[in-house]
Amino acid sequence: MKLTVDAGKCCGSGQCVLAAPEFFDQDDDGIVVLLAEEVGEAAAGDVEEAVFSCPTAAIEIAGP
Ligand code: SF4
Repeated sequence: MKLTVDAGKCCGSGQCVLAAPEFFDQDDDGIVVLLAEEVGEAAAGDVEEAVFSCPTAAIEIAGP
């Protein structure tokens, strides 16, 4: 699966970092920084939790 974020939608809540710290970080303003785009099967649960918990729907996953 391919992971994308829309930093313009991010409000800096940090939920994604808590759910999947290997994929998400935050810059000095709290805005999301994507650390990796390719999501393997082992990490899919954490990333899906990040997508679900993001209050502004700034995270998308697509593909098989
Ligand atoms: S959970 Fe969403 S709003 Fe919060 S820091 Fe991550 S991308 Fe931004």
